[in-house]
Amino acid sequence: MRLGIFGGTFDPVHIGHLVAAQVALEQAGLDRVVFVPAGVNPLKVGKVISAGEHRLHMVELAVHDTPQFAVSDWEIKRPGPSFTVDTLEHFHEEHPAAELFFIIGADNLHILPKWRSVDRILELATVLAVTRPGFDLKTSTGTALALYPEVAKRVHYVEIPGLDISSTWIRERLAKNLSVEHLVPQKVIGYSEENKLYERIGD
Ligand code: ATP
Repeated sequence: MRLGIFGGTFDPVHIGHLVAAQVALEQAGLDRVVFVPAGVNPLKVGKVISAGEHRLHMVELAVHDTPQFAVSDWEIKRPGPSFTVDTLEHFHEEHPAAELFFIIGADNLHILPKWRSVDRILELATVLAVTRPGFDLKTSTGTALALYPEVAKRVHYVEIPGLDISSTWIRERLAKNLSVEHLVPQKVIGYSEENKLYERIGD
């Protein structure tokens, strides 16, 4: 089995995430993509982040009708933030025969060489870097990765249709009572409204 692992805050999940997962699945011939919402220690972050259970539930609602997508509560259930290496070790233990692929947005790629235990990460998984508007992989990231050929070798690029959408922008729109229809799955919008997740401006 070829298993994609897609980590993120997902506050909230939006079509940028869903399209990235779908195209990565197709281009890398994955059997499944598991979304792994991050457990975040509220004391350690500069902005208010919705509770893990809410972010997890929103991803569950978003992927429910796509058989190749799944959600894991593994990081959310652990106290504090998790390191990618720990998450990949967990999936490796759970699916020892699977080939793992770690999906990240191009905006995160330049810091990959600095991640904890990067050598082990690259042993455990191939990195699938999905393109994101505003981040030119060939120049900025290409240069950063050129310094780390061992890392660059394990990174594959996945070109996705440019969707200049972020959770920050979605939160801002919701806080201003602007529509996010077509940007976020309808069930996720309903859930965030019922739970009043994004009513405060500036979060
Ligand atoms: P925020 O605005 O709160 O920082 P975000 O929209 O960047 O959030 P995350 O949950 O941090 O969303 O993203 C999870 C992963 O998905 C990251 O690797 C990120 O680079 C990638 N990603 C998010 N939005 C897009 C997009 N529009 N196109 C491509 N990749 C994306």
